[in-house]
Amino acid sequence: MNRKLSKWKARTFQSMLEYKLKWLELDVKYVNPRSSSKISPLCSGSMASYEGRLTKCEKCGLTMDRDIVAVLNLQMWGIGSL
Ligand SMILES: [Zn+2]
Repeated sequence: MNRKLSKWKARTFQSMLEYKLKWLELDVKYVNPRSSSKISPLCSGSMASYEGRLTKCEKCGLTMDRDIVAVLNLQMWGIGSL
């Protein structure tokens, strides 16, 4: 039941966000979230588990919470900067 409820809330949030963006005449763009927490937002190197929820880039040493890494990557992919 919890799984059903969480999916319903996500869809509700998604439809409300789409409505607001269209009302503001902004485009809605979806990006594939696959590997968004495993790629460094700075150098595109691969991120490895470090401590708890932290991940560390094997290339540049960036250490950050994996959720924040995913959000930064999704934002950049949505803008098209990578
Ligand atoms: Zn890096």
